[in-house]
Amino acid sequence: MIDLRSDTVTRPSAAMLDAMMAAETGDDVYRDDPTVNALEAEAARLSGKAAALFFPSGTQANLVALLCHCQRGDEYIVGQQAHNYKYEAGGAAVLGSIQPQPILHAADGSLPLADVAAAIKPDDIHFARTRLLSLENTHHGKVLPLSYLEQAWQFTRERNLALHIDGARIFNAVVALDSALIDIARYCDTLTICLSKGLGAPIGSLLCGDVAYIEEARRWRKMTGGGLRQAGILAAAGLYALQHNVSRLKEDHDNATWLAEQLRATGVDVVSQETNMVYVNVPANQVGALQAWMQSGDVLLSVGARTRIVTHLDVSRQDLQRLVEHWQAFLHQHSPSDV
Ligand SMILES: *Cc1c(COP(=O)(O)O)cnc(C)c1O
Repeated sequence: MIDLRSDTVTRPSAAMLDAMMAAETGDDVYRDDPTVNALEAEAARLSGKAAALFFPSGTQANLVALLCHCQRGDEYIVGQQAHNYKYEAGGAAVLGSIQPQPILHAADGSLPLADVAAAIKPDDIHFARTRLLSLENTHHGKVLPLSYLEQAWQFTRERNLALHIDGARIFNAVVALDSALIDIARYCDTLTICLSKGLGAPIGSLLCGDVAYIEEARRWRKMTGGGLRQAGILAAAGLYALQHNVSRLKEDHDNATWLAEQLRATGVDVVSQETNMVYVNVPANQVGALQAWMQSGDVLLSVGARTRIVTHLDVSRQDLQRLVEHWQAFLHQHSPSDV
């Protein structure tokens, strides 16, 4: 099976499983799991923040981030296509009574600061209080430029807003920019990181911020059911991922670049390729047939009119070669003149 639906599908490698088996554990609710503590210290060090907190999922880490930044009746400005607006089941509104104020993304995945400024509510009893700007990096594989982040940081300082980055795939940005996490994280108050995407851990996310913020986050994490006990076995996977699977993300990016070129040469309508994501258009009347064709070739792909293909550490160049050949065979049988 070649699974290109997402980079969440990565399985723990034998070496990662060994690290998990060897992990020293304690009870993390009592704060005495040494491996969780080591992972959180490492995340704090890498991000340049004073503290970090380990979560079972990125959704929970993002929810808790919002619960810490915003009180009932406050609002956050966020992208219309952002994960922590669109793909987290409305958690901020449901569980936090926090109002999202979504705005459109620019083509590069950023939120134009003039649009953010226009969305900020005056201090008036009619309005929710605008507290936070939430950015996503990478967004649909797009790396937010450092110059934009610096401007957003300045802007939020002037407007008395906090700045959160949903950095589920922040290490893809780090590698693409050939920089360090701290060079991106300096432009935010708080940052979430997923260990379970391209970094290859089976579970886990981190929220980074200052000490008081992370203390509050620890309470919300407990309240939302995220206080784990012998979580060191999971944190060991995360530590392994940070030590071994960051710089290799470049391979995923190179593979995505190669795949986009090959598919283009084959006649597939490639819309974009950024970091580890390739987006292609599939003619509406071929979506069903292509989905079935991929399945018959042991390729897992969520085929739609706009199809996302995600490279990761469990797909090799050889696998992608096989995908290209399989797609070519499909196009032979479904030439545009037949449809
Ligand atoms: C995957 C993802 C998350 C968190 O997802 P979980 O599956 O809950 O870990 C958050 N933000 C973005 C942009 C993501 O891609």
